[in-house]
Amino acid sequence: MTKRTPIIAGNWKMHNTLAESAALIKGLTENFENKQNAEIIVAPSYTSLAKVAELCKGTAIKVAAQDVHWEDKGAFTSAVSPVQAKDAGATHTIIGHSERRSVFGDTDEILNKKVAAALRHGLTVIFCVGETLAQRETGETLQVIEAQLKNGLKDFTAEQLNGLIIAYEPVWAIGTGKTATPEQAQEVHAAIRQYLATAYGNDFAQATRILYGGSVKDSNVDEIMAKEDVDGALVGGQSLIAEKFRRIINFN
Ligand code: PEP
Repeated sequence: MTKRTPIIAGNWKMHNTLAESAALIKGLTENFENKQNAEIIVAPSYTSLAKVAELCKGTAIKVAAQDVHWEDKGAFTSAVSPVQAKDAGATHTIIGHSERRSVFGDTDEILNKKVAAALRHGLTVIFCVGETLAQRETGETLQVIEAQLKNGLKDFTAEQLNGLIIAYEPVWAIGTGKTATPEQAQEVHAAIRQYLATAYGNDFAQATRILYGGSVKDSNVDEIMAKEDVDGALVGGQSLIAEKFRRIINFN
């Protein structure tokens, strides 16, 4: 079976000034041993992106944008293009975070254009999918996730999507303190891998890292990471606290 390098990613959302961002990076890098050799990614606000990328040079930490626009430039007030994100030092970008979908109205069609833009500029995409509580309760979880994958990644080949990272983030578990059980996470991760195998072939499916996100904490990361198809975590709240995030990176 393919050995997949684990990824622990932190989504800082709309938090941290420049000084706070710098302090957090210091807290993550000083005297730190990355015991699992995990790939570490942080996604700061755009205002801190260049600074964080500069501070992470020569460390194991890679930097992601939290989103990118689908155009390279133009009259799109407040948006940030993949060209700008890359220029600021991002190597990755999150696309389709549930807050982008629900608060900012990013549809599957928009997300598909954003994926295209990111890939065009060589940014590695962390593509988020997840069901709401109502969808889970009516038994639609797997259908919803398959549709998000199908529509968001529409028209790309396995070759184009090479390196893609998927994050399964049940909407009801994000920032709520509620976490999917390891079994619930495994069930959806296995279904995602099965979908990827059908759509893009088994090699692609086996190589693709699927992260779990939704109230991952230092106290629950070990049991979630123990599941076969869970290849990492996308962490919100606890990625803002160096000591907690360090423990999550060094999951057992
Ligand atoms: C997230 O923002 O992607 C997330 C999972 O947040 P939290 O860990 O705070 O639930």
